Amino acid sequence: SKPIVAIVGRPNVGKSTLFNRIGKKRVSIVEDMPGVTRDRIYMDAEWLGHEFTMIDTGGIELETNDTMLNAIRHQAKLAIDEADVILFIVDGKTGMTNSDEEVANILRNTRKPVLLAVNKVDTIKDNHDIYEFYNLGLGDPIPVSAANILNLGDLLDAVVEQL
Ligand code: GDP
Ligand code: MG
Repeated sequence: SKPIVAIVGRPNVGKSTLFNRIGKKRVSIVEDMPGVTRDRIYMDAEWLGHEFTMIDTGGIELETNDTMLNAIRHQAKLAIDEADVILFIVDGKTGMTNSDEEVANILRNTRKPVLLAVNKVDTIKDNHDIYEFYNLGLGDPIPVSAANILNLGDLLDAVVEQL
């Protein structure tokens, strides 16, 4: 089967937007577990002849009384278990948050490749928004705009390099 690229990050950073930009078509959806509704979205994608399957981990939701933080921790752990490459998305407009640091703490403990993309860098003049994310300790942040389809080629180059 194809290598798996999991998209991880706190709500509202643009995971699903990016997922839909990169993916070709939706291939499957829902899986139920006791206490947990795993609404994982999978999609096939291809870049320069390299095929892979993407997971939008934002589709994984815990019980409603669970905290957002627990939900994203859970997503990050699932991604670590199942992915070949982890694509960690943060938001250049809001800047770094505690939730980003929480996810980064989990991702730093995997040997799997982690790519850090700063979404919502909508124009070249917003490029300075990426610098604070060096503090996450996950390497060079890659600026992208899922909305404006900016720099997605560079991001995908970095992804397929790790497959
Ligand atoms: P998710 O919760 O991480 O899946 O985030 P969504 O993909 O649902 O996007 C959250 C919000 O951010 C939506 O209002 C999107 O339209 C917006 N958004 C997504 N990508 C971009 C981007 O590149 N630039 C800007 N300015 N907004 C974006
Ligand atoms: Mg989403």
